[in-house]
Amino acid sequence: MSVRAERYLAEIGIAVYKRRGFDAQRADAPAEPASVATLLAEPQPAVPSAEAWERLAAEVRACTLCGLHKTRTQTVFGVGRRDAELLVIGEAPGADEDRQGEPFVGRAGQLLNAMLRAIGLPRSEVYIANILKCRPPGNRDPQPDEASLCTPYLSRQIALVKPRAVLAVGRIAAQWLLQTDAPIGRLRGRVFRYGESGTPLVVTYHPAYLLRSPLQKATAWTDLCMVKELLQRRA
Ligand code: SF4
Repeated sequence: MSVRAERYLAEIGIAVYKRRGFDAQRADAPAEPASVATLLAEPQPAVPSAEAWERLAAEVRACTLCGLHKTRTQTVFGVGRRDAELLVIGEAPGADEDRQGEPFVGRAGQLLNAMLRAIGLPRSEVYIANILKCRPPGNRDPQPDEASLCTPYLSRQIALVKPRAVLAVGRIAAQWLLQTDAPIGRLRGRVFRYGESGTPLVVTYHPAYLLRSPLQKATAWTDLCMVKELLQRRA
């Protein structure tokens, strides 16, 4: 592990213990159900169309498909590098996001940024979006009909970004993307394939949960290391 990574781990509250001959990342990571070699045989992403992005953003800004448009301050489209190798997907905007129009801001966003930096990916290098583009009132869970109506926007974002890996952040996002009701503890630590392109997808805990349960940060770190390993392997 690099000194830089150790510094960022300390920043997010993970103590690094060194033992000779012990690879913490690999020792903690459960077996991957999908063939990594197959997963990595992905074509390089094409340059995304600026017009397609603008058209999509305008549609989202004007969207009234579900009832959440009535209570939103603004839509939260997504942010980051449009040809990013990593796409981070969360559940829905919260109060801070609704106010600022950007996903993963506030304390949870800062922790996510630190976790990404720890694997050498500053926020500006990834693309970050939510399943829902509008805040559910009172931060309640998204309803299935809302997620169904909004997911096509996310699908178009994924098609434009063409990421080499997806990081599903939190139980709600993971269960929706994978169409399962399995608990997050059984979804993390594995590599799934997402969508027709079979993009590798890794699940990790939501940073808001990690703020409440700091002991789980070390577990989340192994998920991030799995993402890093996927991205480091070239086709
Ligand atoms: S949550 Fe999605 S589907 Fe619902 S109004 Fe907002 S953009 Fe439209």
